[in-house]
Amino acid sequence: MSEITPDYIINFLSDIQPNSHSFIQDLEKYAHKKEIPIISFEVKSLLEFLLSMHQPNTILEIGTAIGYSSILMSQYLPKEGKIITIDRYPYMIEQAKYNIHKAKLNSVITLLEGNAQDILPTLKPYFDLIFLDAAKGQYQTFLPHCLRLLRPGGLLIADNVLYKGMIAKARYDIPRRQRTIHKRLRSFLWDISHHPELQTSILPIGDGVALSYKKDPIDSNLI
Ligand code: SAH
Ligand code: MG
Repeated sequence: MSEITPDYIINFLSDIQPNSHSFIQDLEKYAHKKEIPIISFEVKSLLEFLLSMHQPNTILEIGTAIGYSSILMSQYLPKEGKIITIDRYPYMIEQAKYNIHKAKLNSVITLLEGNAQDILPTLKPYFDLIFLDAAKGQYQTFLPHCLRLLRPGGLLIADNVLYKGMIAKARYDIPRRQRTIHKRLRSFLWDISHHPELQTSILPIGDGVALSYKKDPIDSNLI
């Protein structure tokens, strides 16, 4: 159930999705059964579209979970393409390693274990695409790193940015314990929407997804 889109639309869109590879489908079923927060089918189809169009060679993912989105994205990479994905949670890391190995993607997907806050400063530019799908309260802290690591002309995609629609509600309508995340995500969305280097579009699909294009100075018409 989506909190943002009416069910009849979700059901319709879900019904007309093409079937994925059985390995991908099995991961989906497993994640849903275990309540592991993998990307929604809408975001999956958006990623597939964007990857087909943008054709990245190098992808950085922040938030691996069981490796579902990494494995999905790897299917859209050219032969020499590489994915670096970060997670800090041993329970997830163990399963991601197993799935990546089972999919024979060890040479394509590198899993870095630890807090992204510590790992991001150690990474070197450039990535063609960054997929941000970790603790929402940290997106704002990760943003300067993402900007440094993303090549001009690259894409930053951030998932769960509307947090079940909660981010669009007034602060007073939010339970007190969620106000920090409300404030931080709003600030992240403001920053990516107004950053001079970024062209951003925020889509109310899935749990909300933000697409930011890092402008390339060579595209002289882009101010
Ligand atoms: N991208 C995955 C889902 C990721 S769920 C998919 O769609 O298949 C979010 C993951 O981010 C969790 O596994 C959590 O452990 C990890 N995470 C959250 N904050 C993190 C941080 N600061 N550093 C590293 N991993 C983090
Ligand atoms: Mg997500």
